[in-house]
Amino acid sequence: MNKIKIEEKNRFARFDREFLRQLGMFQKPRRFKTGVSERELLEDLERYKEFALKLGCEDAKVIPASMVSVDERLRMKCRISVCHHYNNCINCPPYSPTAEEMGKIIPRYKYALVIKRAVEPKDDFVDPKKEEDIARHYRKNMEVVGLLEAQAFSDGYYFAMGFGGGSCQHALCMMQPCSVLKGERCRFVLKARPAMEAVGIDVIDLASKLGWEVYPVRARPIPPEDFPCATTFGIVFVH
Ligand code: SF4
Repeated sequence: MNKIKIEEKNRFARFDREFLRQLGMFQKPRRFKTGVSERELLEDLERYKEFALKLGCEDAKVIPASMVSVDERLRMKCRISVCHHYNNCINCPPYSPTAEEMGKIIPRYKYALVIKRAVEPKDDFVDPKKEEDIARHYRKNMEVVGLLEAQAFSDGYYFAMGFGGGSCQHALCMMQPCSVLKGERCRFVLKARPAMEAVGIDVIDLASKLGWEVYPVRARPIPPEDFPCATTFGIVFVH
């Protein structure tokens, strides 16, 4: 599949610029911040939370960054058993930032916004034959993370950094070879972000602390109808 075709396939995932402005996003850039009051930061985080809900998230929460834990075993899960994105995508292990690196940068942030997106219908995730639908949900999740990160950046939070779920090689590049690993530019610079789990963030631990239910969907041979829900998550560390 050539580059144009891949981008065409991704077209339906995009939010229209006019729609984003109607939501109140991307109005005026603010100057970069080197210092910000707690009050201003929390007000901005609440705005981002509202944007997340307007962009279709089922829930979003502002959390202290210290609530996020990392565990190197999560990256090892990409290797055992071998995920087909392992070693094939710059945003996946072994290339993605390690839990050790994340353990150093997360304490530099005060707050983050965590998003939860319901997969509807849940069969899209539970049925392993629905690869295109799974990609579509991860793509949307990545797009929302990218937009929230971009909003925070345009508000002057120059360290804003987002992480999604799933591999961008699946969600965005439709399983085509990662162009970055070929020494070329990423096809989706503003959307492609590593999955939380690919950098060692313990998503299950975080979701549980936030009172969100998570199930091991696609854990065969449990019948799909036995799963109460399917969900994708994302996080944006803001400041
Ligand atoms: S979206 Fe970018 S980083 Fe991800 S696989 Fe495609 S080219 Fe590589």
